[in-house]
Amino acid sequence: MKEYLRKKGLALRKQMHQDEVNDLSKKIIKQIKKQIDLMPYQVFGFYMPLGNEVDLRPLMRELIDLRKTIVIPKVHDQYTMDFYPIETINDVHKGHFGVLEPNCNRKMPKNKIDIIFIPGIYFSFQNYRLGFGAGYYDRYLKDYYQEKVGICYSFQHINNIPSQDYDIPMDFIITENPSHQPHN
Ligand code: ADP
Ligand code: MG
Repeated sequence: MKEYLRKKGLALRKQMHQDEVNDLSKKIIKQIKKQIDLMPYQVFGFYMPLGNEVDLRPLMRELIDLRKTIVIPKVHDQYTMDFYPIETINDVHKGHFGVLEPNCNRKMPKNKIDIIFIPGIYFSFQNYRLGFGAGYYDRYLKDYYQEKVGICYSFQHINNIPSQDYDIPMDFIITENPSHQPHN
């Protein structure tokens, strides 16, 4: 069931045009700013967009200009990852799975990250996440106690995702459409 949903979600996202990705990403950034007071936070976990994932880089740039610390994940092995600071959007290189990874190797202690924005293939109205299927975020987030925000387009926000005991729910989900509500 998870595997079927992954394929479907990835196929739908692949069909998006670049303009749509950019337009919806801008709207999602607007919603983030509207729904969260970012200023009290100092350390922000982000990700580098892969394929047509929501592109939060304009927000990352703004926060860097405000002297906030931006950290992004680097995968160590088959199971683990950590977050490392970047000084600019280009302070990265191509790593595992073609994902852009941080150049810096000073690992940010997990619970010093005030808030993490997390990409996914689907998120549920119960705040569960469907990722690529490797479980990196589930393992990372199990002893992370700050804010976890799922980021997706509204077509990726759905009613039900099968979940297991090890799946870690988000605190909430942000899409471009704030009135997008649970349905059955
Ligand atoms: P995703 O979260 O990327 O959608 P899954 O939830 O299907 O992927 O998890 C993928 C794999 O990660 C599963 O086989 C699961 O056993 C493993 N996994 C997830 N969390 C943990 C954990 N806390 N400890 C060990 N293995 C885990
Ligand atoms: Mg999971």
